[in-house]
Amino acid sequence: MKKIDGAVLVLSGPSGAGKSSLVHKIIDDIGECYFSISTTTRPMREGEVDGVDYHFVDKAEFEREIEDDQFLEYAVVHGNYYGTSLRPVKKALEEGKLVVFDIDVQGNAAVQNRLGDITTSVFITPPTLSELKRRLENRSTDAQDVIEKRLQMAKKEIQRVSEYEFLLINDDLEAAADKLQTIATTARFKKSNDEINAFVNQWEDM
Ligand code: 5GP
Repeated sequence: MKKIDGAVLVLSGPSGAGKSSLVHKIIDDIGECYFSISTTTRPMREGEVDGVDYHFVDKAEFEREIEDDQFLEYAVVHGNYYGTSLRPVKKALEEGKLVVFDIDVQGNAAVQNRLGDITTSVFITPPTLSELKRRLENRSTDAQDVIEKRLQMAKKEIQRVSEYEFLLINDDLEAAADKLQTIATTARFKKSNDEINAFVNQWEDM
């Protein structure tokens, strides 16, 4: 990889936690960023747009991309493949952008492995499981069995919160957005190990 000036912000948390609403609220106030668009094999939901919300592909295409080593990370979530393509992320990092990922706990672990030095991670959740259930039911984009699967998954994911630097409880959207904006602004200041080593080497200039 060329010199990296950018940084990474990982956002995880159950579907229904309000991640997209929070991102929409802060996106204009956190400087130049690239919001990574994942590739998935899950069916498109009503209102979603291919190439905007996700790149929607079939299983064979996804597996071809795995073979071609195209993913920074990928995982099976709720029985479908989800993955982050490496190329646009590399480009955005080289351009000094803050790269924002909405990925699950497995994805966070993989990103920490590969880009841990420049990564800030945030786990976003409603205050309680019953509040999450209420939000998913109100959203009415998913069938009851899908909601049930998401709740079971959320119960598992919450056990891994300690793998994140920040736990953001999305109780009040405005307050949570303020906090996320502060975290995102600070995330940019992370320096890669290479950059730190280069700085240290040139610092003793006499
Ligand atoms: P949804 O189907 O509700 O859009 O997303 C389901 C879950 O998949 C969410 O937890 C989301 O963060 C996660 N997810 C979305 N894209 C990716 C990805 O590229 N990689 C990984 N590991 N998880 C993802």
